[in-house]
Amino acid sequence: MTVQVGKSATATGKAALDAPIFDADAFRLGDEQAAIIARARELGQTVFAGRASTYDRDATFPTENYRDLHRAGLLGISIPRKHGGLGADYQTYALAAAEIGRYCGATALTWNMHVCSTLWSGPLADDLDMDTAIRAEHERRRAIHYKRIIDDGAIYSQPFSEGGAAAAGGVAFGTEAKPAKGGWIVNGKKIFASLSGHADYYGVLCTEITEGEKASRRNTLYLAIPANAAGVSVVGDWDPLGMRGTVSRTLLFKDVFVEDDAALMPRGVYFQAAMRWPHMFLTLSPTYMGLAQAAYDFTVRYLRGEMPGTPPVKRRMYPTKQIAVAQMQIKLEQIKAIWFQAVTEARPNPNKEQVLRAYAAQYSVMEGANELAALAIRTCGGQAMLKSLSLERIYRDSRCGSLMLPWTAELCLDRIGREALYEAGETDD
Ligand SMILES: Cc1cc2nc3c(=O)[nH]c(=O)nc-3n(C[C@H](O)[C@H](O)[C@H](O)COP(=O)(O)OP(=O)(O)OC[C@H]3O[C@@H](n4cnc5c(N)ncnc54)[C@H](O)[C@@H]3O)c2cc1C
Repeated sequence: MTVQVGKSATATGKAALDAPIFDADAFRLGDEQAAIIARARELGQTVFAGRASTYDRDATFPTENYRDLHRAGLLGISIPRKHGGLGADYQTYALAAAEIGRYCGATALTWNMHVCSTLWSGPLADDLDMDTAIRAEHERRRAIHYKRIIDDGAIYSQPFSEGGAAAAGGVAFGTEAKPAKGGWIVNGKKIFASLSGHADYYGVLCTEITEGEKASRRNTLYLAIPANAAGVSVVGDWDPLGMRGTVSRTLLFKDVFVEDDAALMPRGVYFQAAMRWPHMFLTLSPTYMGLAQAAYDFTVRYLRGEMPGTPPVKRRMYPTKQIAVAQMQIKLEQIKAIWFQAVTEARPNPNKEQVLRAYAAQYSVMEGANELAALAIRTCGGQAMLKSLSLERIYRDSRCGSLMLPWTAELCLDRIGREALYEAGETDD
C-alpha cells in the first residue's frame, strides 16, 4: 500500500509525511530529483491540503499557495540553473506536480500552466532547431521572463482555448497578432483561461498575421502579455463543477500592444514543438495522477479508521471493502506504470510507439483518476462524501481531466485508433 509513513511523526506532534507516489529507489530517481519532488510533497501535505477546501468552496485563486511556491523556489522549478531556477527536467517536474495535485488539484493545475511557460521556453526549446542568432536572441529574452519569476514571484498563465477547433490543433488560433513597430498588436478572446485576474502575464498562443496573409498554424506565436496592459480585460463568471480554484474566466484582448521581448518562443518554434515534442501536451496529466493517488490514500485511511475529522471507526474487516481496495490498488499501479513510462520517455522526435503510449497514458490517468474517485465514494460510503472531507472535491476535480484540450479522452481514443491503423500518409483510396 502507498499510504506509508515516509518519516516518523516527531515528538512535537507533527503529522507524519506521506510516502512519495513514486519511491525514489523503486523508480530509480536521482537524489536531486527526489529532493525537489519531496519539497513539493511536503508543501502540498503540510500547507496546501489544509487550504484546498476554502479555495474550492469559494472558487477563489490560491494566492497564498503561490507565495509559498515562490518562497520554496518552485515557481522556477523548470527554469535552468544558470537563470536561478531549480533546473528540473520534464520527468522531475511531472513527478513534483503529481505530488502537489495529490493535495490541491487547482493549485497543481494552475501551477502547470505557469511552469509550462518555463518548461516550453527552457529545456524543451533547447531540443529544437534554431539558428545561432535566433537562439541567442531567445536566450536573452527568456532571461527577462525568468528573472521576473525568480526575483519577483511573477506568475504566468497559458490561455490557448478559444471555443473552436484551434485548441485541439485543428486550425490556426483566432487570436491574432499584427506586427507593429517594436512588437505586435493583439486582438482576440480566450475562454477557460485559468489564473485569469491572478496571473501577472498571460502566455497567449496566437497567430501572427501580416497584411494579405492567410492564417496558418505555422505562424503561431507564444506571447507573454502583461495582465495590466491596456486593452486586456477579464470577463464572465466562474462557477464550475470542479477545479474551482483555477478561476478560468474569459480573457479579451482589444488592440493590445506587446513588445518583441514578450515572445516566449521565437517565430515558428511553437509549431516545431507541437510537431516534434508531442509530450508537451501531456503536462496536464500530473495533476490527475496526484488526484488518483489521493482517492486511494483517502480510502485506505478511511477504512482503517484513521481519517482526521471522523470517528475512529474501522471498516476494513469487510471482504467487500478489501476487494474494492484491491481493485483500486491494481488500477492505481496500472496508471502509475504507464504514466511513469510516458513522462520518462518525453523527448524530441519520439517514435510511433512512444506517441501512442503518451496518448494512452493521458487517457488512463484522466479517466482513471475519476474512476478511482468514484470507487472510493462507493467503498467508503455516505459519511465519506460530506463536504467536510476531501473525497467529494477529489471526485469533482478529477472529472475535469478528460475535458482538457488538446488531448481530451475522446481525442486520445480518436488518435490512437487512427494512428495505430494507418501509417503517415496512408489512405484507403
Ligand atoms: C478546470 C479547467 C481549466 C482549464 N484551464 C485552461 C487554461 O488554463 N488554458 C486553456 O487554454 N484552456 C483551459 N481549459 C479548457 C480546456 O482545455 C478545453 O479547451 C475546454 O474544456 C474545451 O471545452 P469546449 O466545450 O469548448 O470543447 P469543444 O471544443 O466544444 O469540444 C468538446 C469535446 O469535443 C471533442 N472534440 C473537440 N475537437 C474535436 C475534434 N477536432 N475532433 C474530434 N473531437 C473533438 C473533445 O473531446 C472535446 O472535449 C480548462 C478547462 C477546465 C475544465
